[in-house]
Amino acid sequence: MTQHRIALVTGGNKGIGLQIARQLAEAGLHVVIGSRDATLGAAAVSELARDGLTATTVALDLDAPETHAATAAQLEADHGRLDVLVNNAGIFDFGDAMPSQASLDAVRRVMEVNFIGTLAVTQAMLPLLKAAPRGRIVNVSTSLASLTLNGDPTSTYYSQQFIGYNASKAALNMLTVQLHEELKDTGIKVNSVSPGFVKTDLTGFGDMTPRRGRAAAGAIRAGRRRERPVRGTRRSDALVRARA
Ligand code: NDP
Repeated sequence: MTQHRIALVTGGNKGIGLQIARQLAEAGLHVVIGSRDATLGAAAVSELARDGLTATTVALDLDAPETHAATAAQLEADHGRLDVLVNNAGIFDFGDAMPSQASLDAVRRVMEVNFIGTLAVTQAMLPLLKAAPRGRIVNVSTSLASLTLNGDPTSTYYSQQFIGYNASKAALNMLTVQLHEELKDTGIKVNSVSPGFVKTDLTGFGDMTPRRGRAAAGAIRAGRRRERPVRGTRRSDALVRARA
């Protein structure tokens, strides 16, 4: 069995997920890159290898429960446990919008991937996390999930009302809080992080590259620390995005 701590990063083939994988590998963990496309997963492994970092990849599609079970079986066979699960994979859908105008198909799709898919992967990985001495689950969320900021006309987030995306991440935050409570006697800790507004394929533009958008920056500890409302600042679009 592997001595290194084992981390699985969903959607680890690009964007923020690949950067998280890189930083975990740099920290000495054995990283397993979850990728729904095996070729893209292999390319990410090669990219890290070029920088002297070791990782492996596994086919993992949030929409395909059979890949959740197969991933769990693979981790069990290779390592016997999972130390860190980073629930990073997620989507935005351009049919999403404010409640009166959003495409229901888009909302359903975003909820299905960002919340239901993440919950399903988490359930599949829990037995392996319980087999680790100090299991950790990190859910990649966003300040757009804040109920406080969505309802505050003075907040810079007020203008970014995507009912599907924001609700899917608010639901993810609920998962963080409930699971943290459910698992508090097991040694497993569950956290949410908000990486900031990062230029990736999901956003198309942003204020930082994934390398700068360190997910640790906006950590919200399992519901015990509220996201800080943005006050006393100029409400330019750039600022809105910088804090998203
Ligand atoms: P990217 O689009 O660059 O990466 C998204 C990743 O998720 C890709 O690896 C993608 O795989 C994967 N993915 C999408 N759908 C599925 C699925 N059904 N099953 C498995 N994997 C899937 O986006 P980001 O890096 O920006 O986003 C990563 C996370 O960060 C998301 O959860 C996002 O909501 C969150 N976030 C991003 C912010 C930003 O500013 N960029 C701000 C706040 C939060 P594939 O390559 O196959 O499409």
